[in-house]
Amino acid sequence: MSSGKIIVTFQKYLKFTLQKSKNIIQISSPIIKRNYHHGSSFWASVEMGPPDPVYGLTEAYRACKNPKKVNLSIGTYQDDNGKPYVLPCVRKAEKLLDSMRLNKDYCVPEGEEQYREKAQQIILGRDSPHIKNKLTAATQTVSRTGACRLAFDFIGLFYTGTKKLFVPKPTWGNHLQVARHAGLSFDYYRYYDYKTFGLDYKGLMEDVSRIPDQGIILFHGCAHNPTGVDPSRSQWEEMSDLVRKKRLLVLFDLAYQGFASGHFEVDSFAVRRFVEDGNNCMIVQSFCKNMGLYGDRPGGLIIITKKKEIAEKVQSQLRNLTIPMYLTPPIHGARIAQKILSDSGLRDEWKREFKLIADRIISIRRILRSKLIKEGSIRNWDHIVHQNGMFCFTGLTKSQVKKLQTEHSIYMSESGRISVGQLNTKNVDYVAHAIHLITRYIK
Ligand code: PMP
Repeated sequence: MSSGKIIVTFQKYLKFTLQKSKNIIQISSPIIKRNYHHGSSFWASVEMGPPDPVYGLTEAYRACKNPKKVNLSIGTYQDDNGKPYVLPCVRKAEKLLDSMRLNKDYCVPEGEEQYREKAQQIILGRDSPHIKNKLTAATQTVSRTGACRLAFDFIGLFYTGTKKLFVPKPTWGNHLQVARHAGLSFDYYRYYDYKTFGLDYKGLMEDVSRIPDQGIILFHGCAHNPTGVDPSRSQWEEMSDLVRKKRLLVLFDLAYQGFASGHFEVDSFAVRRFVEDGNNCMIVQSFCKNMGLYGDRPGGLIIITKKKEIAEKVQSQLRNLTIPMYLTPPIHGARIAQKILSDSGLRDEWKREFKLIADRIISIRRILRSKLIKEGSIRNWDHIVHQNGMFCFTGLTKSQVKKLQTEHSIYMSESGRISVGQLNTKNVDYVAHAIHLITRYIK
């Protein structure tokens, strides 16, 4: 724009004087009289944010020109051709919903009742006395991330115990960010043993017993992210006893229900046991992973209470927290999940289809391990098959991870975690070969 003065006059109501001098435009009118800084802005002092570790990797992967590149950083399931997979039962449910010509009205802030009921049943069981006796408050959320945020905000406002969250070391990185943003302080309890590639059960129990009474503890209900290491049933039982004695508030993140064993009931063992034992539990869940509805974001937060009247009050406060955050949740994914869960034929199909996914993940773990052995690796790779679910904590060091990226265009998080859901029979040879090349001289 050239320098000088431009005067625009709206005779009756407005008179704008746009005076471009020293980057300042002055606007004057009977209604508005403000200075607008042109060329600088209120946001000029904002610095570039640090790249998100996971999304940063995906961007680097996309920019990479190597045709052999492999991205093992994201926890989504892909088919054997490396393509995102939509479950056939989801397609069917969508067709059925389409034929119903449903409208697109808002749902209520806590989500449709039928969805919430079915979502609770898949975790707590169809005959759960807590559901039957209305001892739960349950709300649909924007998947698990939204559920964690809602849970932390709720804790911040209403929890009367010790407001400190204890998370496993390591945990899903975003737990900490969400807690931070919700103003909740946190610390770790020991979880993973880097020497055995397994659970540090002794360390876990010692640390949990040191948590202040009525503190808050977060557990991954199954298929722990990032380690793929879960406690055994008897360990969960002992943990439940200890937690009850200490009157801790338990937040279960059930991110990968079904992925550990291929069976939803088996994978909800820990949650059900803790609830049955009378622990104070909050549960975050979603169907993003186990129905492959990633972008649709159907999730939920369940809070277990001891009395129906308490559940009603908690429910009302969850609603009041939701409204100023996003008003109402998205309906599409929740309708699909609800359709699948309430139609017995579709539900059975889902369970069958999902079992194939879980089995394929188990089989690709075996293939990766055997390929590494075939490559001549003298390392022990048993943990690849012993760990559960979508992720494998390989034991690769930061510098090895870097080498894999720079020398072989294989992308994974710097912790050495790989998403097994992104491995397939077409890329596993290449990945095994590359891992062997960078680890062969190190025992
Ligand atoms: N919790 C854990 C443990 C996770 O691994 C993830 C996803 N990686 C989430 C929560 C967030 O999942 P969602 O997509 O459902 O928000």
